[in-house]
Amino acid sequence: MSGFDVDLFVIGGGSGGVRAARIAAGEHGARVALAEEYRMGGTCVIRGCVPKKLMVFASGFPAAMAEARAYGWQVTTGGFDWTAFRLKLDAELDRLEAAYRAGLKGAGVAVYNTRAVIEEPQLVRLATGERLRARHILVATGGRPFVPEFPGAEHAITSNEIFKLEALPGTALVVGGGFISCEFASILNGLGVKVTQYYRGTQVLRGFDDEARAHIGGQLVEAGVDLRLGADVAAIERRPGGLCVRGIDGGEAVFDAVVYATGRVPNTAGLGLEAAGVKLGRRGEILVDGWSQSSVPWLHAVGDVTDRINLTPVAIREGHAYADTVFGGTPRQPDHELVASAVFTQPCELGTVGLTEEEARAAGPVEIYATSFRPMRGAFAGRSHRVLMKLVVSAETRKVLGCHIVAPEAGEMIQMVAIAIKMGASKEDFDRTCAVHPSMAEELVTMRKPARAG
Ligand code: NDP
Repeated sequence: MSGFDVDLFVIGGGSGGVRAARIAAGEHGARVALAEEYRMGGTCVIRGCVPKKLMVFASGFPAAMAEARAYGWQVTTGGFDWTAFRLKLDAELDRLEAAYRAGLKGAGVAVYNTRAVIEEPQLVRLATGERLRARHILVATGGRPFVPEFPGAEHAITSNEIFKLEALPGTALVVGGGFISCEFASILNGLGVKVTQYYRGTQVLRGFDDEARAHIGGQLVEAGVDLRLGADVAAIERRPGGLCVRGIDGGEAVFDAVVYATGRVPNTAGLGLEAAGVKLGRRGEILVDGWSQSSVPWLHAVGDVTDRINLTPVAIREGHAYADTVFGGTPRQPDHELVASAVFTQPCELGTVGLTEEEARAAGPVEIYATSFRPMRGAFAGRSHRVLMKLVVSAETRKVLGCHIVAPEAGEMIQMVAIAIKMGASKEDFDRTCAVHPSMAEELVTMRKPARAG
């Protein structure tokens, strides 16, 4: 006997942990246990991507109904029934959680519905007091919303609480300028909440392509979000009429709810990691190498807890590569190059892959192909939103280094473009691809002259 109760103990039942457990047990025959203290499925399924996307869909209907009227349909828009939507959402999340559990069971993974911590190297202690010796431990505990410290911070809610609200607020302040704040500003606005957004910088979505950022910022304003740039909260006080927010400029405004989306931090506190010799980074993330291995040989980590690229599909790939490497005899590292992503704002999403214009310019001479136009469907209905299609091309190699799309369904489009860019497509490869007409995406293969170069 090995002296170990299991070959692998996974802490955390989110995207990365569940994939690793299923592959290690189901495909490679390892004896695997997994502990999850909350609900199976993790942030993505329970309080992130999935419920968020369903809320994005819900928030798009008022505009869709107005569009339907413009197309000749007789449509009357009633009110939005948050309770009815939430009950349906809860049922859908229950269904998905059950599917995750069934997947683990089918693979032969022993599931513990409790918190697990590392008591000493290769020894896990459950909150029930039970102890298990594990040859390998995988930490996949994800992250949680970060709210900075300031007077009244306890009055703020985060994306965790939004899905559980008893009622939608009449007015809301969304703080932050990243993925989550832009998405929730857009969602709440679409659902009829009067939204103000404070972002401390000069334009939302820092780190994304500047032209695309400006497009999304402009769209938020046009859609009715009161976007205040260079604005931040100094204090929040609960008053009879609501939450009184004092800004750093000294001004005051009252809101029914204040939603903070100012980044996320890795969930590593209290896991016994440092005592077991596992090195953590400045933000509390587990430091890992390309194999997702920590500073000790028996512990690996995948997903947001490592603070690499904090996206579900990346965590899934990290978990899968880990299981294949350690238990499948097929060593491979997860590929973090050219990962596409989308920001699900409305009516246009931002889909992006590869280098921004600014990053590419810093690396060498570029040609920028860009076009902006009112898409056919919206233009016919008299809507004002504009689409942006942009290719960043290396002037030397002719390779397309980046693509940035601001458009309805940009998330769907960028997935396809990402394949071409991952294959190393050149601008000429795009050019010799015949257009699909009439579509928005056809602009990606019909842009003949660079908008600028240098
Ligand atoms: P982000 O890191 O994307 O954005 C955080 C925002 O909060 C930034 O605008 C930042 O400003 C601001 N901020 C940070 N600290 C403070 C502070 N102390 N006071 C005021 N503002 C502050 O984090 P999110 O929470 O939006 O999302 C977390 C991660 O989750 C994302 O990075 C992404 O990886 C993932 N995610 C992905 C989604 C998708 O794929 N569609 C959707 C949602 C989340 P500044 O720019 O000045 O630093």
